[in-house]
Amino acid sequence: MGLYRNAVKYCWKWCAGSYHSGRGFSIPSHVFAGPAAGITVFNALDKLLAKLTVFSDFSESDCTIFRPLQWQKNGDRSYLIQERPMSIVQLARTVYDGIIAHAREGKPEEICGILRGRDGRATQLYRARNLADDKIDNYDVDPQTLLKQFEFEEAGDEMVAIYHSHPVSVAYPSATDAWNAHYPETYYLICSLEFDDAPVIRAFRMEPHWPDADLDAARNAIPFDEVRPGLFGYFQDAGAPVPQEVGDFLVETVPPLYIVFALDGSGAVEDFRVVGVREFPVHISEGG
Ligand SMILES: [Zn+2]
Repeated sequence: MGLYRNAVKYCWKWCAGSYHSGRGFSIPSHVFAGPAAGITVFNALDKLLAKLTVFSDFSESDCTIFRPLQWQKNGDRSYLIQERPMSIVQLARTVYDGIIAHAREGKPEEICGILRGRDGRATQLYRARNLADDKIDNYDVDPQTLLKQFEFEEAGDEMVAIYHSHPVSVAYPSATDAWNAHYPETYYLICSLEFDDAPVIRAFRMEPHWPDADLDAARNAIPFDEVRPGLFGYFQDAGAPVPQEVGDFLVETVPPLYIVFALDGSGAVEDFRVVGVREFPVHISEGG
């Protein structure tokens, strides 16, 4: 039941965030009426999207928005099927509470660590040292902690996630977080203490691409923020108009995404990449 609700919420979020926000749509009540055991997400989503397809701008190329799901076209009606289980990050209650406790202890600085588990389920938390120079708004997991992932693998586990805190800002990756995301298969968990009595943990995957695109044209056309000395970022939100010069950057990645680049000492571009940001629902499992 929880899984089902999360799956529907998740898909709805993508739909709403990408195409239909602000158009007065609401989720049909039968979708949340809840399934009897055995009803599939396919049926629920079929209904949901049957509603959404009244808008003609819903094209097959948009299907990448729904990457966790398989997209099918049937005549002129398109719909989603669930081919594989929806990706959900599962945190043992001890892990969830442990991240928040760590974040609170570290405030006003950012804290970080890694989570051990398997199949998207994190069962153990390992605190790391934050090696960043500017711990108030950045983090850098110490290498000794990162090396533990090989121990996990020997035991049949994996590094499910890397977590860090945002002491005063929302639980969403910054341009610096995107730049520093080197593990596309790992979830990045962010714990926000923006509101002390209401911590929020959200999970993302960040996948870098190195597109064949004209960065100079993009730099002239769109505002990049210098997020660190020599590091520049631009955020393209889902649903926001895409500037023409940015289009070439979006070949392999759908918004939301960051375009980030670094300059060397002489002002030349050292490296630039596009980093897709995909959010995944977080599910807390009780009892371990
Ligand atoms: Zn961050």
